[in-house]
Amino acid sequence: MDMIVKRNRIKMKFIRIINVVFVACISTAALAQPAKHNNPWAVKELGALPPIQSLTDGIWLKGDLHVHSSHSTDGGDASPNRHPVSTIINFAKSVGFGFIAITDHDNHVLGDVEHHTWADPAFKSDSLLLLYGAEWTTTRGHGNTFSAKPYNHQKFYDVRDQRDTVIGSVKKELGIHLSANHPAGPKDHFGFSYDLVNSMEVWNSVLWTKNANSILIWEDMLASGRRVTARGGSDTHRPSDINYIGTPTTWVFAAERTSQAVVDALTNGRTSVSANPYAPRVEFYADLDQDNKMDMMMGDNAKATGKTVTFRVQLSGNVIADSVYTVSVRKDGRDFGTYKMNGSNPVVEFEDAPVAIMRSYYYLTVHGPSTDYPQVPRSAKVTGNMVALSSPIYFNFDPNF
Ligand SMILES: [Zn+2]
Ligand SMILES: [Zn+2]
Repeated sequence: MDMIVKRNRIKMKFIRIINVVFVACISTAALAQPAKHNNPWAVKELGALPPIQSLTDGIWLKGDLHVHSSHSTDGGDASPNRHPVSTIINFAKSVGFGFIAITDHDNHVLGDVEHHTWADPAFKSDSLLLLYGAEWTTTRGHGNTFSAKPYNHQKFYDVRDQRDTVIGSVKKELGIHLSANHPAGPKDHFGFSYDLVNSMEVWNSVLWTKNANSILIWEDMLASGRRVTARGGSDTHRPSDINYIGTPTTWVFAAERTSQAVVDALTNGRTSVSANPYAPRVEFYADLDQDNKMDMMMGDNAKATGKTVTFRVQLSGNVIADSVYTVSVRKDGRDFGTYKMNGSNPVVEFEDAPVAIMRSYYYLTVHGPSTDYPQVPRSAKVTGNMVALSSPIYFNFDPNF
């Protein structure tokens, strides 16, 4: 073969190889492009939203969603009698709780909560709903799991240091609710994607004021289009006269008195948090069509038409008759309005016209006289005048985001 022909053949072969590489690059690039860019900030008309569940067929139940028993060994005293499961259950019943989540640190039992807390002979009750859960305790932060039935927690513990996508798929497979604990804690903040969580501990322990940074994170997540339920948790490890079971107390509006209904209410955001088991409960409703009949409550998501909506805030329980309560409403990360209500008629209404198509949310806090908690006598003073907080009411949140 003469040299020129040979050189040309080599050249052609080289060009063919380059072409194959080039085409391969193009197809990989084409595959890497997302089919459709989902921009949560875009103004867009949503399709039909899921129907709003009944506002009356259900039951308000209260409980604590962050409690440690002796199976958590970080209480300073590792004795099995520091905080027995039986003590927790009896106390919860004595303050009228409907549910409780004993959330022991899973790292203390190498992920095996199934054979520790849940297998504890005292972990049973006829009247109190016991959620199956644990405090998922990882290098990147803490989160509580909640489930109506036992699940393979070991599997969730085993992926604690994996990428969030791996954790997310295991969480989905296990069918559990994940909640970010003390998300702005100085050493143990929640360092995972909030796409993993259904709720946030926006009120950790008796000292309300230390939760300010957690509230900022929560509002950021709400602004981004995520519906994240507000919940509380005392995070108690041992009996105390300042911070104990119920400081604070989380209320859920459950469709029925079952553990599954409690978890569903948590996931759906039908919650509010009160300073203690005896403090008033706040309920937050909206009337969408001016017929003086409420159409939605906290956690619910409706389409805004641009018409005026009437919002109603009401307190129930131990409301002190001759006292003034102050309701502070937040809308889309800003102070919206402050309203006074008298304890003798603890209802207040206000109006607003959430913009059509755009996303908006409203939630509120209530300040007023503190409520005595005789079993935890010094708690009321620490909580001060913080009475309650509601989960948000949502407009135009994309259920598919
Ligand atoms: Zn923690
Ligand atoms: Zn804890």
